[in-house]
Amino acid sequence: MVKRIQELLAQLPAVDILLKRPAIEQLAAEYPRGAVKAAIQEVLSNIRQEVLQQVRQELPELPTFEQMITEELVQHQFSLRRVINGTGTVIHTNLGRSSLSKRVKQQIEEISFHYSNLEFDLETGSRGSRYSHLVEIIKELTGAEDVLVVNNNAAAVLLVLSTLIKDREVLVSRGELVEIGGAFRIPDVITSSGGTIVEVGTTNKTHLADYQQALTEETGGILKVHTSNYRIVGFTESVSIPALAKLAGEADIPLINDLGSGLFIDMRQFGLPYEPTVKEALDQGCDIVTFSGDKLLGGPQAGIIVGKKKYLQQMKKNQLLRALRIDKMTLSALEATFELYRDPGQAVQEIPVLHMLSLTEADCKKKAMVLAEELQKSSSSLTVTVEKDTSAVGGGSYPEHSLPTYVVSLHSEDISAEMLQQKLRTSHTPIISRIKNQKNYLDVRTIEEEEFPFITSAIKALG
Ligand SMILES: *Cc1c(COP(=O)(O)O)cnc(C)c1O
Repeated sequence: MVKRIQELLAQLPAVDILLKRPAIEQLAAEYPRGAVKAAIQEVLSNIRQEVLQQVRQELPELPTFEQMITEELVQHQFSLRRVINGTGTVIHTNLGRSSLSKRVKQQIEEISFHYSNLEFDLETGSRGSRYSHLVEIIKELTGAEDVLVVNNNAAAVLLVLSTLIKDREVLVSRGELVEIGGAFRIPDVITSSGGTIVEVGTTNKTHLADYQQALTEETGGILKVHTSNYRIVGFTESVSIPALAKLAGEADIPLINDLGSGLFIDMRQFGLPYEPTVKEALDQGCDIVTFSGDKLLGGPQAGIIVGKKKYLQQMKKNQLLRALRIDKMTLSALEATFELYRDPGQAVQEIPVLHMLSLTEADCKKKAMVLAEELQKSSSSLTVTVEKDTSAVGGGSYPEHSLPTYVVSLHSEDISAEMLQQKLRTSHTPIISRIKNQKNYLDVRTIEEEEFPFITSAIKALG
């Protein structure tokens, strides 16, 4: 036995021999040489282990080796990989939140693969500001006096508070002292910015008088926070933006509104309840509004601050800005995304988040039927059906509203739902499904038609 193991180990091909195989040479032309070598070593090491543990009694033929190396390279060259989102949650925080519009691609390429005027004024030939590039387009879309863009909305809130409140007090309703996920807790952000929270009202009800009574010489501003992933329902009351704006104006302090998602179109067209857009929040009297780039806006990760010029000027001088600054790839993607909002109809068509939300029940049914038919043809062991279900907006938006959808459900007599889910997840292009009623659900709302072939080949591979 030991002799056989030693024989097999001695027969394992050397890395150099494998590197000279035509199929591997071809791989080395396509992939970085280091990655090809690492894949060969990984495959050899796996086989060595199998031989030692006596689960393998024969070595693979060279063509099989080549195939294994190719698989290893494709699957494991990168840690960060594309996946297919079959969960139906449109803004899925764990799956990269929003995917970008195809139209953004060209602008990212143009800016990232070349030099650019990132911090250079082409008119005067002197130093410019990276923060200038988005000012005009966002002003046009929101009517804001000024604009500043940072790394994400958490950074935006931190910069706003650390500039405008500093070591003074900020009034926040007890109903809005929320945790947003990823441990972004409003009370902690206020504290780490150096400010002091003055809690007003109660969890379910806050009145204008509560703010009025809390207002002192020490008050640096009023903060209103969108409760995003959490709702207080029933016996509730909060103070409107116009009423708070009046109070803040009289005290000559800023009214800051952390909107979270930041809308640029009316969401009622998708059957969702009304929420103010960024423009409306400013029109109603907010001095500063902050929001994310990669929630319902459907752009790259970023935090956008809009509002009164006198406040934004102070933020631009804050040393902290350097640590929160946005990079050129993000800037280019964000500018190209905002460009689409000049025509709201086109934004809905071409920004994936909005397009997915715009799909009607009938659209989803049609898509699901197409996918189900392809999958049933590709599999002998799975039962494929189309079922009615619901999708979620995600990203902390509209927590208690769902959208009617259709899913393709997969069921196997041979393996458990959990096992099937794992197989889908570890397929060539990972497919993320949801389990319900002991079946794997693929919600077509978040799957592009061009992704169907990936699912078909994964199902074929199952047999
Ligand atoms: C999501 C959210 C944040 C954090 O935004 P990021 O872009 O994830 O940093 C802050 N405030 C509110 C109200 C949010 O919904």
